[in-house]
Amino acid sequence: MTTHFVMFLILAAFSPLCSATAQEEKETSLQGKLQISEGKATVVVEQGKAVSLESDVADVAATLSDERISGRPVKVLGRFRPDGVFSVREFYVVRPESLYRIIYFCDTCHITTFAPGDCACCQEPTVPTEVLPTDPRIYHEEVTGQPKR
Ligand SMILES: [Zn+2]
Repeated sequence: MTTHFVMFLILAAFSPLCSATAQEEKETSLQGKLQISEGKATVVVEQGKAVSLESDVADVAATLSDERISGRPVKVLGRFRPDGVFSVREFYVVRPESLYRIIYFCDTCHITTFAPGDCACCQEPTVPTEVLPTDPRIYHEEVTGQPKR
C-alpha cells in the first residue's frame, strides 16, 4: 500500500517533466532556401545540402507542394524522421526584419486560407502572401476557423 503510494508520487512528479524534455530534444529547426519541384519540397542548407521536407499537417504539406513559393528563404520547425526526411510542423519565410508566415489570400473577397487552392467564394486561385504572424487575418481565422474548402 505504502509502496504503491510512493510509486504514484514519483510517477506524478516525473512524467510531465520527462515528456516535455523529450519533445524539446527532438524538435529542431532548419534554415535555408526552399526548393519545390514537382510537388516535392527540399530545403537547401549550408554547403548546398538538400534536406527533404514533408509534413503531417495538411495545410503545411499542401503549401510545401506549391511551386509559387519555391526559392524563398525559410525557417522550418519540426523534427527529423528516422529516414532522414524532415517532418515540418510549421515554417516561416525569413526576412531581414522578421519571420513571416504564408497565407493564401483572395484580394477580391478578403478571404484567408492556409493552403493553396481556389477561393471558396469567387473560385479564383488564392495568392500566396507573406504576412507577419501578428497579422489580424491569421488571428481572426485561427479563432473563428477557416472557410471550408
Ligand atoms: Zn474570392
